[in-house]
Amino acid sequence: MKVTTVGYWGAYPNANEATSCYLVQDGSVNVLLDCGSGALAKLQNYISLESLDAVFISHTHTDHMADLFSLEYAMLIQTQLGNRKRPLDVFIYEEDLSKLPFEFPAIVHVHPIKLKEEITVGSLTLSFAENLHEIPCVAMKVINAEGKVLVYSADTGMTEEIKNFGKSADVFIVECSFFEQQKGLVKGHLSTIEVAEIVNFSKPKKVVLTHFPHYGDREQLLEEVKKYTSEEIYLASNDFTVTL
Ligand SMILES: [Zn+2]
Ligand SMILES: [Zn+2]
Repeated sequence: MKVTTVGYWGAYPNANEATSCYLVQDGSVNVLLDCGSGALAKLQNYISLESLDAVFISHTHTDHMADLFSLEYAMLIQTQLGNRKRPLDVFIYEEDLSKLPFEFPAIVHVHPIKLKEEITVGSLTLSFAENLHEIPCVAMKVINAEGKVLVYSADTGMTEEIKNFGKSADVFIVECSFFEQQKGLVKGHLSTIEVAEIVNFSKPKKVVLTHFPHYGDREQLLEEVKKYTSEEIYLASNDFTVTL
């Protein structure tokens, strides 16, 4: 299994970059975890859009789903051109899916994510845990047939649940929205010192920091987390890929 950090900004993307979007590939299976603004353009550096099998959306903040509706048009056009022969499955953690502006129900099949239910896409099985955030939001765990485990925090404040959910992960992608000095500034996000507390508890093999702020130095985020933990930690970046 391989994961690529297609987009890693919080809120809005920097020039030629994208907000939250992670491409998970396992054999011929291609799945997206979140699909933020700028993601669709960048994703085409890695796969053709018609080869996408499913998309999972952690919550309905636009930095996690803005490009979903452009993706629906891409699927429509690729279907009309004969390049795609099946609908795209989209799974979203949102109670009222009818309020979302999808237009082509034959092209995109929209399903709810339910906390206690696993979802299987080809060789991948996904499960979910509830986060602490402004609106309902889930963390996601992806396991392949060989038992490799990827965990993605999505957006969350500090909870016991996220600490436990990250346990035994081969790769743990964790949001890191704030510097140490800003701890507690916003309830539904993590600062560097909290990220360190989480990974010291869950002990994943590798940690990838993501969901960056638009100020300060990203290297400082990394240094602050490293100050409190000896786990193996990377910053999400352009073309960053990790194999599990
Ligand atoms: Zn976000
Ligand atoms: Zn959010």
